[in-house]
Amino acid sequence: MKAIRVHETGGPEVLRLQEVPDPIPGPGQVVIQVHAIGVNPVETYIRSGNYPRKPALPYTPGTDAAGIVEATGHGVTRIKCGQRAYTSGAISGAYAEKVLCQESQVHLLPEKVSFAQGAALGIPYATAYRALFQRARAMPGETVFVHGASGGVGIACVQLGRAAGLKVIGTAGTKQGREIILAEGAHHVLDHAAPDYLDQARTLTNGKGMDIVLEMLANVNLGKDLPLLTRGGRVVIIGCRGTVEINPRDAMSRDADILGMTLFNATEQDLAVIHAALVAGLENGTLRPIIGQQLPLGEAPQAHQAVMATGALGKIVLLPQASQ
Ligand code: NAP
Repeated sequence: MKAIRVHETGGPEVLRLQEVPDPIPGPGQVVIQVHAIGVNPVETYIRSGNYPRKPALPYTPGTDAAGIVEATGHGVTRIKCGQRAYTSGAISGAYAEKVLCQESQVHLLPEKVSFAQGAALGIPYATAYRALFQRARAMPGETVFVHGASGGVGIACVQLGRAAGLKVIGTAGTKQGREIILAEGAHHVLDHAAPDYLDQARTLTNGKGMDIVLEMLANVNLGKDLPLLTRGGRVVIIGCRGTVEINPRDAMSRDADILGMTLFNATEQDLAVIHAALVAGLENGTLRPIIGQQLPLGEAPQAHQAVMATGALGKIVLLPQASQ
């Protein structure tokens, strides 16, 4: 089969399409024939070598794929060959024509959800669910400010928040991004490049402030998020690409919580809860992953450039069949 291999860390050009042996499932393992692969920012950090997680070289990147179950190992009972499925983690790397997973990393994909949409779930939707419900403990009626709502995680935050009865305010840097956020359930949208957008955000809460901020770029925004919170407010740091200065008094004066999170810390039990909720949301139509760019697997380097560029419009996916 074909797979993207990384032999040395570096720029996007180190992602090379190569021939590798097909995976064979061991006990408790599943092989999926991949139809779509989700591209996440973390895969660019790992590829660059500047991230705490450093896989042994060479490796195949990626954890998020969707496709058809091709083979199952001894003891696999929940998943059957021929079923449509998506992954939330992988043993062999998802940027490939086939992926080897533990059974617990494989979830059934409802019929009405496309493979490209299935590839948008593993990291982005699970992160959004964990941030909103397992970290911020969001309640219906609260206001959530999705600071960076036009990308893979942000759109998931908007849909999850809206379905749970929160008032949702989202931001994007482009007009098209704001249109998507509005269409996906935000009550209000703002431009995070506009000089007065934080004042506008406060006005939208009648001066009360946000109960929850879900932050995609904390190194730019955390200092501005804290004064936006209401008393007892929570900010969840989802994305961060550097250091930032804050005034701790902005948190003290509000009894506010700054909550970090990384999906890597979610336990198997946490993930079972998350994916049960996500599959229910896919089935009842409240969760509808939005696909931006779709590229052939061989164009993984371009996908890595695109996922780090501004102007996000949903999820970037790779298509193995398009590379054949
Ligand atoms: P993405 O699809 O590339 O989206 C990036 C988002 O950040 C877009 O909505 C973008 O908006 C927004 N953004 C850009 N400049 C901003 C600014 N100044 N203020 C606020 N938002 C801004 O990436 P993603 O997959 O959604 O991931 C988002 C971030 O979360 C990344 O940093 C990623 O590494 C991180 N993440 C963390 C976890 C975790 O476990 N903690 C899991 C998944 C992702 P425009 O393009 O419209 O400007």
